[in-house]
Amino acid sequence: MIERLLLGPGPSNVPHEALLALLRPTLGHLDPDFLATMQRVRERLQQVFVTKNPHTLAVSGTGTAGMEMMLTNLVEPGDRVVVVVNGFFGGRGAEMARRLGADVVEVKGAWGQPIDPAAVDAALGQAKTALLYFVHAETSTGVRNDAAALAACGRRRDALVLMDCVTSLGGLPVTVDAFGVDAAFSGSQKCLGAPCGLAPITFGARALAKIAARKKPVPSIYFDLLWLEKYWGAEKSYHHTAPIQNVFAFDEALRLILEEGLEKRFERHASAHRALAAGLAAMGFELLPPAANRLPMLNAIVLPEGLDEAALRKRLLLHHSIEIGAGLGDLKGKILRVGLMGRNANRAAVITFLAAFEESLRTLGKAPPAGAGVAAALAAS
Ligand SMILES: *Cc1c(COP(=O)(O)O)cnc(C)c1O
Repeated sequence: MIERLLLGPGPSNVPHEALLALLRPTLGHLDPDFLATMQRVRERLQQVFVTKNPHTLAVSGTGTAGMEMMLTNLVEPGDRVVVVVNGFFGGRGAEMARRLGADVVEVKGAWGQPIDPAAVDAALGQAKTALLYFVHAETSTGVRNDAAALAACGRRRDALVLMDCVTSLGGLPVTVDAFGVDAAFSGSQKCLGAPCGLAPITFGARALAKIAARKKPVPSIYFDLLWLEKYWGAEKSYHHTAPIQNVFAFDEALRLILEEGLEKRFERHASAHRALAAGLAAMGFELLPPAANRLPMLNAIVLPEGLDEAALRKRLLLHHSIEIGAGLGDLKGKILRVGLMGRNANRAAVITFLAAFEESLRTLGKAPPAGAGVAAALAAS
């Protein structure tokens, strides 16, 4: 068995407590002990999303299943949907809404910059808009979009507000109710630190009202919220077989998050980021986004001219057993992505990475000052 330090854009290393939960015996999907676990997962997820929404659960599948669930229930053919596209995942949201028959209006922003809420407001003002969709933490660029400001734009124009918080949930403050977000989804394997395979999701009252008013049924059975709710909610009737062990492990990961406390966890992510940013700066590297909008859990490093990024990542992986991410979409070959998510958001991981990064750069003939990165990270506040 090979174990890596997973410092890419996800998955992140899973705490052993959650891995052990995967070894629990399989129970039937309607076993009272399993149903109690599902109920606990809902309650814990409400705390993590900071929402009172009763319709909060974990869909089977990765983050993209959450995206599919949110849009499949809320988009009706012909709906005008304004989508913020300043990275790869915003683009995926736009394409998914188009495939569901929406009239999609993309508000495009530079990759590596946060979106300007005024541009979103202008697009919303042009015609009656059913839905506003945005990504809180753009994993492809390392940028945080201003969720509260964007949600306020949607609310002002009477559009439902939909948020992708796959990378932010568990690592940055995500307060669904306070933001004014009507539906949001995430993924289990990034800052939540659970195995891949579940997508937490929450729907508020305004979103439920739109689903109730649909002219045609939701065009998917697997992702039909109200049907799935009959399994997760009071009725406890079969919808599909839940991935039993995955739910156990997810429950355990959520328990660890709440035991640590959300505020402490956010500060841990911020502190690891500060150490990494200081180390990289001392080694002569820059981060792509402006300082005020950088994600703590996903650091986009601008590649200098002439650096063979594939060879660098290969050295890190095969010699140091550290995985980092390449650029995605428009940023392929232009950035490296270093994730500090969940368990890996700590200074020991940062020091390990910086030392290995320096050695790998040296093998490529790009030697930074010896030890400068590690020293700066150790000295960072
Ligand atoms: C990872 C990610 C997704 C997709 O999640 P998968 O688990 O890969 O399906 C969607 N949005 C964002 C912002 C992500 O980082």
